[in-house]
Amino acid sequence: MADQKTVLPPGLNSAEFKLALKALAAAVGDQWVKSDAGTIAAYRDPYATLDDYAFLPSAVISPASVEEVQKVLKVANETNVPLWPVSTGKNYAYGGPAPRMKGTAVLDLRRMNRIIEVNEKLGYVFVEPGVSYFDLYQHLRSIGSKLWVDCAAPGWGSVLGNALERGAGYTPYGDHWGNQCGLEVILANGEIIRTGMGGVPKSKAWGAFKYGFGPYVDGMFTQSNLGVVTKMGMWLMGEPPAVKPMVIQFPREDSLAQIVDAVLPLRKAGIFNGGMMLSGILWEGGGISPRTRWYDGKGAMPASAISQMARDLDMGWWNLVTGLYGTEALIASNFEIIRDAMSSVPGAKVVTESDRPTDPAFAYRKKLMMGEPNMYEFNLINWVPGGGHIAFSPALPLDGAEAEKVYSLCSNTVHAAGFDWMGEFACQLRSCLQVQFLPFNRTDPDERKRAHETFHKLVGLCGDAGYGEYRTQLGFMDAVAKMYNFNDNSFMRLNEAIKDALDPKGILAPGKSGIWPKAIRGVPHA
Ligand code: ADP
Repeated sequence: MADQKTVLPPGLNSAEFKLALKALAAAVGDQWVKSDAGTIAAYRDPYATLDDYAFLPSAVISPASVEEVQKVLKVANETNVPLWPVSTGKNYAYGGPAPRMKGTAVLDLRRMNRIIEVNEKLGYVFVEPGVSYFDLYQHLRSIGSKLWVDCAAPGWGSVLGNALERGAGYTPYGDHWGNQCGLEVILANGEIIRTGMGGVPKSKAWGAFKYGFGPYVDGMFTQSNLGVVTKMGMWLMGEPPAVKPMVIQFPREDSLAQIVDAVLPLRKAGIFNGGMMLSGILWEGGGISPRTRWYDGKGAMPASAISQMARDLDMGWWNLVTGLYGTEALIASNFEIIRDAMSSVPGAKVVTESDRPTDPAFAYRKKLMMGEPNMYEFNLINWVPGGGHIAFSPALPLDGAEAEKVYSLCSNTVHAAGFDWMGEFACQLRSCLQVQFLPFNRTDPDERKRAHETFHKLVGLCGDAGYGEYRTQLGFMDAVAKMYNFNDNSFMRLNEAIKDALDPKGILAPGKSGIWPKAIRGVPHA
């Protein structure tokens, strides 16, 4: 592995970089600009597949206010230091806090961590980037709020950053971007804009009505490099009268299509009304103990060992994890409908809390379904030694035959390369995301290389079959962007035209989602 511990922004020599750092320090204060090897090492991608330093930043800049962000952008434009904004930088398995282009400086927004408004009556909050799920949860509980947070599974990430990446959660408000309402964004030229009703200076409905007047641009600031988002409105669910967390277990691997087809009508009819994960046994049980407890051989874990694991843990090969929300009476009646419908799948078994009072997997899922952030799912990193993982997440219709196709394609590909299929289908209203961890040993260079190549293979095979990834890890952004190549890449040409217009010097997040500034477009990057 390469071991260059510091790096300059591309195109700058060390004297120019020193001057730039001085100007940045004048903007935010000396102690908030760091470029020493120790600091920047903590901002690498923790799960880089090839080179630990491939995505090493040149510096970390930590502004505390909108005004400081504006000053930093001005200096960046003047000195040609590219910036990679992060909110809390916990986007692990997709790159963590690291920038796509080596030598980009991280704009760490964690110090901007105010919860600006809690509107209990309408059910929304406005937050700054550094507010984590834990922060928001604790704040809401401390003020006696009855609003719920819908969090990502590890709760240490930010409300804002995860929504910008279009992450998914576990309550009925699990579509994080779908529940965003109102943004404040600083463009590359330092100008502040407010979207939706925020454009009206005395707006009364910024957090209540998304669309405002004219073009609806909020989505342009997700998974993109067009601005620094400094405030976001987020709708929160009010505590319902009752919740019933449940897992429906299915013993057979080959039931996948049948399960998904049984789910769809109940989803469309609103009978299943919570977030929903159809989780494979290695994901569902993988946090309980490492792989060696079940299988110590080489290559992918064989089906017999997987079945044994499911039996020993009293879990399904597939586990449909969801909650029912509403009144006790509504839940009881929906529960009966679900039990009937899902019993069409061989061996279906419905498990509720009273069946699993001490099961840690059930307990953490229940917390997520009730908006309580926790870190349990992080245990999955202990599945293999040297716990690396990158997430492969193609989107597909919520359709049994499609789910079966994607599962076969992905599981056959990873098994042939000696890896396990550890994944879950995050089921939404019409679609699902196959979120698959590719677990690999970070201390084994051969295994890293194999993981890297396997990931590329997955991108190629799924792209050819019509399943684009919805989000990806830094080193695969160019490849995934190429999946979306309809009409000679017209979508990318639009993205590039917008990028060139809004950020002509290309200082914001070069390479994010495969969108590069004009001056270095086509230049190969790791
Ligand atoms: P989290 O810690 O919430 O998981 P990150 O802070 O790592 O999320 O953000 C994920 C990605 O979203 C970043 O790598 C960056 O591309 C983008 N991003 C995060 N925060 C901002 C922001 N405030 N403005 C613009 N882009 C952002």
